[in-house]
Amino acid sequence: MPKIIFNYKICDKAPECGGIANCPNHAISFDNKLKRPVWDESKCSFCLRCTMPDSCPVGAIMYAADEQQEKLILDTIASDPVTEDWLWLERYGTFPGQTQPLATILNLSNINYVLSDSGTKLVDIWHPDFVDCRLHSPLFSDLIHGKDVPIYKLNAQDFPQLASQLGVTSFPTLFVYKNGQIIFTHTGYVKKDSISDIIQKINKLI
Ligand code: SF4
Repeated sequence: MPKIIFNYKICDKAPECGGIANCPNHAISFDNKLKRPVWDESKCSFCLRCTMPDSCPVGAIMYAADEQQEKLILDTIASDPVTEDWLWLERYGTFPGQTQPLATILNLSNINYVLSDSGTKLVDIWHPDFVDCRLHSPLFSDLIHGKDVPIYKLNAQDFPQLASQLGVTSFPTLFVYKNGQIIFTHTGYVKKDSISDIIQKINKLI
């Protein structure tokens, strides 16, 4: 039997899930008890709209044509070391249910104060439509450990004018600010073997 499979390890578990919005048969809905989108086999016509990037940009909704593919997908999900906490840290600068974020979220009311303020700070600008920002930003989690430097995150989808004010057109972009000036910029996904070099450079600056 074909199946639609959710990878809940990387799913945002949001009621705004694109799979819900794009399914022509209402076969995906938000389960308020489970607090995540769920699939109803009886309504599905297997049009595969929900598996397209415009439904789920991180590829959390997958199609298995038969039991063999289903097992392969489930085994792959089970062996993926990514955890929900890690993804929250990457995407939102905090952990699920934590009231005190590890990163401050930049918005219209705090950005001018934050960026003109003296001192050193890291500013991570991300966009949820860019898969690299959602799946591959290990730099942020590596930087955040043991640093006494404030870290700020700006979601460019929520505040496109702020991203453009900062001259950012590619995501993710990481800035190091010192006394209101940008002293370091890195744009794009940082490959694992380059992380330590970049962290060393940033450590020297801060
Ligand atoms: S395959 Fe098509 S019908 Fe089935 S859940 Fe996805 S979008 Fe809905």
